[in-house]
Amino acid sequence: MVDLVFDAPAVKKKSPVHLADLTVAERKVRAEELGLPSFRANQLAVHFFTHHNDDVESFTDIPKELRTSLADAFLPKLLTLVKSVTCDGGKTRKDLWRLHDGVLVESVLMRYTDRTTICISSQAGCGMGCPFCATGQAGLTRNLTAGEITAQVMMAAKACDLGELPGGPTRLSNVVFMGMGEPMANYKAVMQSIRNITNPQPDGLGIGARSVTLSTVGLVTGIEKLIKEDLPVTLAISLHTPDDELRDTLVPVNSRWKVKEVLQAADRYEAKTGRRYSIEYALIRDINDQVWRADLLGRLLKNKNAHVNLIPLNPTPGSKWTASRHEDEAAFVEILEGYGVPVTVRDTRGREIDGACGQLAASQIDNNS
Ligand code: SF4
Repeated sequence: MVDLVFDAPAVKKKSPVHLADLTVAERKVRAEELGLPSFRANQLAVHFFTHHNDDVESFTDIPKELRTSLADAFLPKLLTLVKSVTCDGGKTRKDLWRLHDGVLVESVLMRYTDRTTICISSQAGCGMGCPFCATGQAGLTRNLTAGEITAQVMMAAKACDLGELPGGPTRLSNVVFMGMGEPMANYKAVMQSIRNITNPQPDGLGIGARSVTLSTVGLVTGIEKLIKEDLPVTLAISLHTPDDELRDTLVPVNSRWKVKEVLQAADRYEAKTGRRYSIEYALIRDINDQVWRADLLGRLLKNKNAHVNLIPLNPTPGSKWTASRHEDEAAFVEILEGYGVPVTVRDTRGREIDGACGQLAASQIDNNS
């Protein structure tokens, strides 16, 4: 039996407070506490959220003598790039970041023809213990702050502005919480970061809530809280199998909330927001890719406003789990479609660059140890 970790270990060294950790009102109060007019907080927000710039020395609208104290109070450096790895002709880039206390997290920027998406981490490590996942194997180190989560998005928006991916400058259009960590287990910081992402500029990055996907293994209490927020993000449930017997092993949190309860919570979210939810399903050879499981999933989702996203498993090094055979994947799709359930097979962006969550951080830790 896997021990689930819902509460992050106490942090050894508190993360510095950042503009993005504060609400709009709190930013103004903090400026006044420093003896500065509150419009200074607004100026910094314009630089950070609208211009994707956190280099205070370049802020010519701020007097030189104020820049250092404002940088310390509002824009401490949260992310240091350790390395970037690209594939797909440079259209996929995985960045490994070091946080102020040496902890490593990853984000993946992907440019498609019609959109550019950043996949971000919400925790360093993860306490959910899914056995097929590199992050799950390493356990939970700590929660990220709202600032650390938002900074991953800001850096991606900046990379898009600067045309760092092939195809020239573009706009960051989508954010998915599918990197390291279980977002619902770091609820407060994740909600603050979603507000930072979706608030109109200059209070936030101005990305529509519908373009933000929050992925969870099914923490029903978190979904219930999300229903009460006025944030119509896209909800994704990492289901991975429709039967409790296997899910208890594959997604250990299932011992707490069963498949039926998780889907009922997703249905309540859909009823409140009108948003179609997504079922994430990593297809694992001979583990969860049988015809009868496709049939059971089809029956569970028939007539629901749900969409299935099949993900060919990206095996972690040394793992016994591997991707399904092509014919089994095709049969799975066909059965779901037979129930009228919309289904897509996710492209396997980032495979050559340790694409599964946590693999780049894991390999870096291995290299350093
Ligand atoms: S699959 Fe997601 S929830 Fe499960 S251990 Fe990995 S990061 Fe955590």
